[in-house]
Amino acid sequence: MEDYNRILDDILHTVNSVDTPGKVATYIPELAKIDPFKFGVSLQFANGETYNAGDYDERFSIQSISKVFTLSMAIQCIGDKVWDRVDVEPSGDPFNSLVQLEHEAGIPRNPFINSGAIVICDILLSELDNPKDDYLQFMHDLQGTDKIQYNEEVFKSEKSMGYRNVAMANFIKSFKNIHNNPEDVLDFYFYTCSIDMSCVELAWSFQLFAQHGKCAPDGTLFLEPNQIKRINSLMLTCGFYDESGEFAFRVGLPGKSGVGGGIAAVLPGEFSIAVWSPKLNEKGNSAKGMHALELFTTHTEMSIF
Ligand code: GLU
Repeated sequence: MEDYNRILDDILHTVNSVDTPGKVATYIPELAKIDPFKFGVSLQFANGETYNAGDYDERFSIQSISKVFTLSMAIQCIGDKVWDRVDVEPSGDPFNSLVQLEHEAGIPRNPFINSGAIVICDILLSELDNPKDDYLQFMHDLQGTDKIQYNEEVFKSEKSMGYRNVAMANFIKSFKNIHNNPEDVLDFYFYTCSIDMSCVELAWSFQLFAQHGKCAPDGTLFLEPNQIKRINSLMLTCGFYDESGEFAFRVGLPGKSGVGGGIAAVLPGEFSIAVWSPKLNEKGNSAKGMHALELFTTHTEMSIF
């Protein structure tokens, strides 16, 4: 029987003893204020066993990790019709790239880059009566509590500076793949990104993807196992921007990162794990977070491969 407390403590010690290069995201001014040396991890098994280390209880901005939750909601709403609007191929380009949209008539390459998530938010805006409330409710249902909230400063900060996303939404609109007013779509998109969660909360929510669609607090089936299979495979191939191959190569788990420095990942049927460390590598993924997960799957030999 593995001593997971000791394994996580060793990982914490190792990643903190290396001077990992990287920079905190500054293009969202509010994120630039975060202490770059934070590091937290939470590991949760399907039977409820939980192991934590470092700053595992401190909330941070989930940013792009929200893209997995909004995709899940869109699939709940319209099922496979989602794939008429968004493709399922890795992009090989940065998360905020507009390049491929030009060649692919406004169909984003996948739902985990900004263009894809913006289209997913457009779908939710068309389908839901109160998109922001419904999104927050979805997050609360996954948690079994209503403690998770959005961070107004982060929301406003990104809204005031999100020129590239504004360009993207308008560009997609020109191809008619945005059906609502782009401003409303972006307001909702920035809101979804501005949720604050701790590693413990994130790992708990990701039990949905570890437990083949069951919501952890009460076992309700939120999504069909086949839908979760698709979301997990997209996380493996597209969850880390243009570093998805490298993440699969080094870590070997489906997962999703965000520019707030969080990474959440799962071994389906076994566990979910969330790490947080704000310094990002040049591709926009948490440098220490990736290192920590590589150490974890290498040591425990628990990856999908
Ligand atoms: N809200 C961020 C953006 O749109 C999310 C980026 C990310 O975490 O990858 O730029």
